[in-house]
Amino acid sequence: MFGGRNKLNNQSDVSNDKSFFGQPRGLSTLFFTEMWERFSYYGMRAILLFYMYYAVSKGGLGFSQTTSASVMSIYGSLVYLTSVIGGFVSDRILGPRKTVFWGGVFIMLGHIALALPFGAPALFISIALIVVGTGLLKPNVSEMVGGLYTEEDIRRDSGFSIFVFGINLGALIAPLLVGWVGAHINFHVGFSLAAIGMFFGLLQYYLGGKKYLSKDSLYPSDPLEPEDAHKLGWQVTVGVVIFALILGVMKLANAMTIDNVVLLLSLVAVATPIIYFVLMFSSNKVTKIERSRLWAYVPLFIAAVIFWAIEEQGSVVLALYAAQRTQLHLGPITLAASQFQSLNPLFIMLYTPFFAWMWIKMGNKQPTSPHKFAYGLAFAGISYLFIALPGILFGTAGKVNPLWLVGSWAIVEVGEMLISPIGLSVTTKLAPKAFSSQMMSMWFLADAAGQAINAQIVRFYTNATEVPYFLIVGAVSIVFGLLLLLMSKWISSKMAGIN
Ligand code: GLU
Ligand code: ASP
Repeated sequence: MFGGRNKLNNQSDVSNDKSFFGQPRGLSTLFFTEMWERFSYYGMRAILLFYMYYAVSKGGLGFSQTTSASVMSIYGSLVYLTSVIGGFVSDRILGPRKTVFWGGVFIMLGHIALALPFGAPALFISIALIVVGTGLLKPNVSEMVGGLYTEEDIRRDSGFSIFVFGINLGALIAPLLVGWVGAHINFHVGFSLAAIGMFFGLLQYYLGGKKYLSKDSLYPSDPLEPEDAHKLGWQVTVGVVIFALILGVMKLANAMTIDNVVLLLSLVAVATPIIYFVLMFSSNKVTKIERSRLWAYVPLFIAAVIFWAIEEQGSVVLALYAAQRTQLHLGPITLAASQFQSLNPLFIMLYTPFFAWMWIKMGNKQPTSPHKFAYGLAFAGISYLFIALPGILFGTAGKVNPLWLVGSWAIVEVGEMLISPIGLSVTTKLAPKAFSSQMMSMWFLADAAGQAINAQIVRFYTNATEVPYFLIVGAVSIVFGLLLLLMSKWISSKMAGIN
């Protein structure tokens, strides 16, 4: 289901090696690398929101709630936006193996920065390190999974399911552990757990990689020629100068606030996929049939943006809801608000076997990809209508049973099952050949754009506005789902043979 540009093993190695649950041993190395990386990422995110808006006297930075929520979103956006850079560095300069390694080093340093008690400057340094590091690591670790198999290897999809299990295992454990430490000891010890997690990931990646990943992964698949490097150097310089100029003008106009920088970055993150689409549509390397498939991809991409916007608000808006509107003392148990973040991966892990069984059972009676996307959006929207209910029924002043949040996550995660794996697969299938190696990053750009939009809209969420907020965002998702249903015939025809 995933495209793989790096064939890491030769055919005989691949079919002979069944030492990790019937899969090549290299999968175990990549599984644990990504598990620990996601452990560090989601552990950090589970407590970061609270670290930002808690008062200084409570160990926080004392940012306003709206700024904190907005920073959470733009941070999440940038982490996926830089996957474009990570894909490029791997393909053209370093090869995936070293790119992932250096990504992990940046990520670990980023968590170490937050582990130290240096306040807001350390936060921004940490964000920069983790944004770059994740951009280098995340798309390439997935690509290397694809590279373990030949296109025909029937273990490919199950290999990816095992890998996704690793993502969610890391994402499940981290908020429970880091969240507990953040609430009962302090934030910095929590962030150091994230750093330690990434350290374990790196260590086993380094040792396992030497033994189980092929030497091909040490080299770029399409090395940069000197003249390309020259051109790239210019482009990067121009980009950096323009960005610096904009910041300079903002400074002169006395407009250099966190919120304005976030706004600027939101615009960049939304513009990036639009530029990608324009480039693909106007490229003369794209054939007529590929252009038709690209048209089909546009509405699916927009649907993915809306879906990820709601899904990713789980670590921002629903995290605020957990802290402010949810009863956390349940008899002898006291929960930390951050620990609710484990519900998302928990439901994915619970649903995965059921969906695998259902798709096999349905065979070719399965809904088409546009239909699955439409249902996915509907589930996302309904999860928001559902969490609007307590406010409508009981008012927004008191605290409600945690089952409301459990229910909301249970609903949105059905949507994730309908969009996330299908989206990645459809992205690689609808990709024009000339752009195929960038399509993994393209898929991450949907999440990046969704969170860039979040950086602007989560600012409207407060206790007083929760009901209209959930109703409006939920309704937008449902309406778009309906539009997608209406368009599904057209989309399927434009997909020209792909479903
Ligand atoms: N929760 C997913 C992960 O951490 C999000 C990535 C995506 O946008 O596909 O891998
Ligand atoms: N569902 C997310 C991803 O697929 C994990 C999370 O948000 O905790 O892995």
